[in-house]
Amino acid sequence: MVVESKVKGFICTTAHPKGCAESVRRQIAHAKTKGQVDGPKKALIIGSSTGYGLASRIAVAYGYGASTIGVAFEKEGRPEKKRTASAGWYNTKAFEELAAADGLYAKSFNGDGFSDEMKQQVIDTIREDFGQVDLVVYSLAAPRRTVTDKATGESKAVSSVLKTTGEPYTNRTLDLRTNEITEVTVPVATEDEIRDTITVMGGEDWEEWIRQLDEAGVLADGCVTLAYSYIGPTMTHPIYKDGSIGQAKKDLFETSKRISEHFSGKNVKAYVSVNKALVTQSSAAIPIVPLYISLLYKVMKNQGVHEGCIEQMVRLYTEKLPARETDAEGYIRMDDLEMKPEVQAEVAKVWEAVATENIAEFGDIDGYWEDFYQMFGFRYDNVDYSEDVEI
Ligand code: NAD
Repeated sequence: MVVESKVKGFICTTAHPKGCAESVRRQIAHAKTKGQVDGPKKALIIGSSTGYGLASRIAVAYGYGASTIGVAFEKEGRPEKKRTASAGWYNTKAFEELAAADGLYAKSFNGDGFSDEMKQQVIDTIREDFGQVDLVVYSLAAPRRTVTDKATGESKAVSSVLKTTGEPYTNRTLDLRTNEITEVTVPVATEDEIRDTITVMGGEDWEEWIRQLDEAGVLADGCVTLAYSYIGPTMTHPIYKDGSIGQAKKDLFETSKRISEHFSGKNVKAYVSVNKALVTQSSAAIPIVPLYISLLYKVMKNQGVHEGCIEQMVRLYTEKLPARETDAEGYIRMDDLEMKPEVQAEVAKVWEAVATENIAEFGDIDGYWEDFYQMFGFRYDNVDYSEDVEI
């Protein structure tokens, strides 16, 4: 079937298998240019199919020569309904094939990473194939989580929200349907919504993974585990750092300290890496952030310091993590270039001046949309999109 992009708001409902493979191929090519360093050899990546998780998998496979087990929640293709698989499904398939061709072990699980069943399947595979894991990356980003009460066995769905705390917050945003700058008022999250957002995006499930891996005896002494966060400049704080998602990220950081403390006897160390704001399926859904990203991309590209997910993750795993380089609080700062004073001063200046009429001048709208389409495997100059492909 010939696959075309179908964009609805901030999501594309189709994905191109060859384009997704091209995206993975390019990320691997970048990782290969950086060469190998000493590091963990048996890695588990939870949220391994897109964005930062996929880039992490590639960075450790090629940066350390690591064997990788990936966990993600993706949709298979339904050729009878002419429905493509999700991008993460194609990415995963492409990664497995390319890694195998390079002699690297790569096995992937598709299903709910929050569930005990998935944890058990992964544990069984680690035991059989690896013995133990010495790196666990937690890069799961989800809008909801099914939580099962262990005592009663009852399940319920809990959803995260992207709202502010304190007072409603009004600022400009980029309307992705029209490329217009519009005003948006972000409502205040209720206590329940904040609690639920922490349940979905906080540290509970990360800690549960580590606890279950340890109890099963498949967590190696000296294992390193990482999860990802974002801080950003003040204009994004009401929606991110001080918003409902920010409360979940605070919980994630507290969890990292708890894991390191609890497993200090095994010398297990947990880190939160603060990554750069980038176009991913998760970040496109956050109000205000797409406008900030389009201005940031322009400024960082002009200053020659722009990075994508793979550049960020290769730098994390081959430079910052081996050096155990953290800030005073203990965060690994991959947002170091984004937060440079000269970058932020320029973004703040254009933030004041940007309007629908001049967005093309101040913002990298083309770069935003290029990243967006490429996330789903479209707009690669070396892929023939008129060709019939197997979905
Ligand atoms: P993403 O949407 O690209 O990736 C999410 C991953 O989670 C996918 O592999 C998906 O399949 C998987 N997933 C979702 N639900 C799942 C489930 N129930 N079970 C198993 N897997 C599931 O998101 P991303 O932007 O790469 O985010 C990854 C992490 O990085 C998040 O913690 C996010 O907050 C953080 N982060 C993102 C940015 C950014 O700008 N995108 C910046 C800093 C930090």
